[in-house]
Amino acid sequence: MTDSIETQYIKGKRFFEAMAKAGRYPACSPGFISGLCAGGHRFATVQFCGREYCPDCGRDGSPIHQRRVNSFFNRSKDWAQLGYLVITIPQELRYLFLNPENLRDLRKRILRRLKERFKISQGLARWHWFGDCEPCGGAGCAICAGTGSGKNFNPHLNILFDGGFIADLDQFLKPIKKIMQSFFNMILWKEVYFLRQKIRSESNPDESLSMYDLVMQKIETIKTDDLVINYSYCSDPKNRMNKIKYVTRSTFRLWDDNIKKALNNFRNSVVWGWKKSEVQADETGHEKYCPICQQSGINKVISWTNLIRHSNNYKLSYHDITEKNGTVRRWTEFSQSVKIDYGGNDKSGTNNKSGIDGYRKRFPVNISALFL
Ligand SMILES: [Zn+2]
Ligand SMILES: [Zn+2]
Ligand SMILES: [Zn+2]
Repeated sequence: MTDSIETQYIKGKRFFEAMAKAGRYPACSPGFISGLCAGGHRFATVQFCGREYCPDCGRDGSPIHQRRVNSFFNRSKDWAQLGYLVITIPQELRYLFLNPENLRDLRKRILRRLKERFKISQGLARWHWFGDCEPCGGAGCAICAGTGSGKNFNPHLNILFDGGFIADLDQFLKPIKKIMQSFFNMILWKEVYFLRQKIRSESNPDESLSMYDLVMQKIETIKTDDLVINYSYCSDPKNRMNKIKYVTRSTFRLWDDNIKKALNNFRNSVVWGWKKSEVQADETGHEKYCPICQQSGINKVISWTNLIRHSNNYKLSYHDITEKNGTVRRWTEFSQSVKIDYGGNDKSGTNNKSGIDGYRKRFPVNISALFL
């Protein structure tokens, strides 16, 4: 699984680079936001829908995936090792996790435990909604429409944090399993109360009664069932990078109305241990301070514009320039067509020119914040 993420990511990255060089943008992109620091450095961030099921944003190596990967790789650089927990939801309970409240609540309880009891001060948590497509192992085939995504809702919570070898893993996982067990019990009992009321109010409660029995059975089995949590860790940069790429990728790639409805506006990634403003910059790509000026130790605020729609008048272009000595330089520019009115008083109709001519003002744009 994690082996192929590297190739998939590179493939996706190349796809979007070629697109940008050809002057095209993903269909969901409404435009870009431009920024200027007081020192004259210009930035631009292309906007995307960012949805997991978007055919562009959902791809491995998409601009939005790259943004997530870079920000998280930078954040976790100082950790000695990268610990990776995967918390799975038993199959018979998955339908209850189409409720965003439950997704949020379980995540909150587990993270609180990690922060308060295990003193894990920084980390990232992100749900995956589907596993990989079984026939192709996630590489993409006809069955999964090339997306690599499995078809059954299979929510599992990925947590990355500063953690390495754990001597007594069972001991470590025990309290987390306890949280899970009591959480599952709680939401099942909620179902029980709900069904009891339903049964009372229905004239023909057969269906509700059998549901009731089923839920009661589940309550019994959850107590004894072995809950599944996987833990692994790695230290070399290459493996760490691949883990981050894997965790931050999209998994909800095949359209499903119910799941779309359930996850609408659900905030999937949460990080802890950083300032709120830093986290926001990650998501929007809009840094508060100019990173170029910061290299010389100066904090200069970037002022960002409103959305500028992709158009012929305002263009963001991206190309490689081969210099005389043969080196290739990546060049990004923002160009604005400027109209000059020569008077425009030619109303005779004999002159086809409108009296308005234009040229393009070109500004170099810093790539670091652009199409990452
Ligand atoms: Zn999109
Ligand atoms: Zn497949
Ligand atoms: Zn600057």
